[in-house]
Amino acid sequence: NHHIHKSKAKRWEPRMTEEAKSRGGSSLKNAAKFLKTPGLISLGGGLPSADYFPVEEMGFVVPRMPLQGTNKVSTGDSEVDGRPANSTTQITAGKHDMAAGTSAFDIATAFQYGQGHGSAQLLRWLVEHTELIHDPPYADWSCTMTVGNTSAFEMLMRMFAQRGEWILTEEYTFPAMVESAAPMGIKVAAVKMDEGGLLAESLDEVLSNWDETVRGGPKPFVLYTVPTGQNPTGSTQTLERRRAIYAIAQKHDILILEDEPYYFLQMQPYIAGEVTDSQPQSHQDFLTSLVPSYLSLDTEGRVVRLDSFSKVIAPGVRVGWITAPEHICERYHVHSDLSTQSPSGVSQLMLFKLLEETWGHEGYLDWLLHIRREYTARRNVLLLACEEFLPKEVVTWTPPMAGMFMWLKVDWKAHPRFHDGVTLLEVEDELFHRNMAAGTLLMKGSWFVGEKGKGSGAEEMFFRATYAAASFEGIREAVKRFGVAVRELFGLKQ
Ligand code: PMP
Ligand code: PLP
Repeated sequence: NHHIHKSKAKRWEPRMTEEAKSRGGSSLKNAAKFLKTPGLISLGGGLPSADYFPVEEMGFVVPRMPLQGTNKVSTGDSEVDGRPANSTTQITAGKHDMAAGTSAFDIATAFQYGQGHGSAQLLRWLVEHTELIHDPPYADWSCTMTVGNTSAFEMLMRMFAQRGEWILTEEYTFPAMVESAAPMGIKVAAVKMDEGGLLAESLDEVLSNWDETVRGGPKPFVLYTVPTGQNPTGSTQTLERRRAIYAIAQKHDILILEDEPYYFLQMQPYIAGEVTDSQPQSHQDFLTSLVPSYLSLDTEGRVVRLDSFSKVIAPGVRVGWITAPEHICERYHVHSDLSTQSPSGVSQLMLFKLLEETWGHEGYLDWLLHIRREYTARRNVLLLACEEFLPKEVVTWTPPMAGMFMWLKVDWKAHPRFHDGVTLLEVEDELFHRNMAAGTLLMKGSWFVGEKGKGSGAEEMFFRATYAAASFEGIREAVKRFGVAVRELFGLKQ
């Protein structure tokens, strides 16, 4: 009923690049529509016969949802924490299950050429999921599959920016975004941030004071942001922050690319000294606990949301999707038709079997709750280790609320040679190598500076730590070594 009142998205074609506007699509793929003609014998499409796909059956084993023994806290060591065999489900896909009427998807179809938006079967599930989680408040939104968010932002940048132009992003940002923009001649303008991520006031200031002659490029209209568990800072924008940023986006007519691989890794607030904490007790609790996305606030169609299975299923499946105004999705899938084609059919079949035919939307939420619990325990182990082993007069941090990263601020001005002119980058490098010598890898904060060569980020020094993969014991040991290295470097008592 209320969608009668939803308005249509803003039209973005006038701001698309020549490259995006001029894509005519694939003539051969467009001919696929003729295949529906009754009685037609196709000598048309160069589709290999499924008889020559050397796969008759595909099977895999997944955890059964809801997980048994969900109160058990893992040790973070997969060799110790093996699951009992009775809590798994065997999934099988056959070559001709559709003809046999036993499944809506099969090997003969999934392994064949498809359309740039991905298979209708999996796409429908993704649209349902998007509606369940975000319920976009405008009429003509749509989803189209991607081969992950890296590819999605690369393709979207081609659609909305060209050589000599700028896009806006957090002052510390995901390097792959900057590195894919650079060879396209697209420059990145930093927006200041605090513990709560991107600052609306700074966004307004950068845009209001944009000087084309100083910057050498027109005022940007694309904001790339990672609102939840941001890489590298681990910061999460509150709902109030998102509303304020959306309002600035309206004021300056900005398109927001929200890159959200960590959206479902939102955690309970950290309570000092506790490894486990209260978790949502129902799916409804879980969904209401999530900070609303930009997509869910987007009444005008000025958000392109990038979702990825990389951090919640596995990076190697290479499947994600964008949600955006239909006309943007259309331009995206026309591009896919002539580049990636679509995510791998093997991955799509696997995901469909898992998400639609085995877990369903409810089972998927159970899985998300499970990994949220696991990441919460990991984060808490890292925070406890930091409290125990790091000298707080030099190293400080804010407990992350989402994602897999923690941003450690190091007061480099406490370095013994600070007054002899040692630079931030020298101290950072020295600490990096002392860490390596001690057997701990932490990423240098300077690697994440988005706007190269500008003052931004030059005043403060950070290291990025992840709690994603090391065992609990490993996390503690690594932090302990880092503490020793910092004390040595800064001449503090061990
Ligand atoms: N190059 C040529 C010459 C082809 O005939 C085809 C398939 N018709 C392709 C590329 C597409 O290959 P792929 O499925 O690996 O993208
Ligand atoms: N975007 C951000 C902010 C990330 O941190 C990552 C992973 O490191 C990606 C995108 C990559 O996502 P995908 O595997 O979907 O390409």
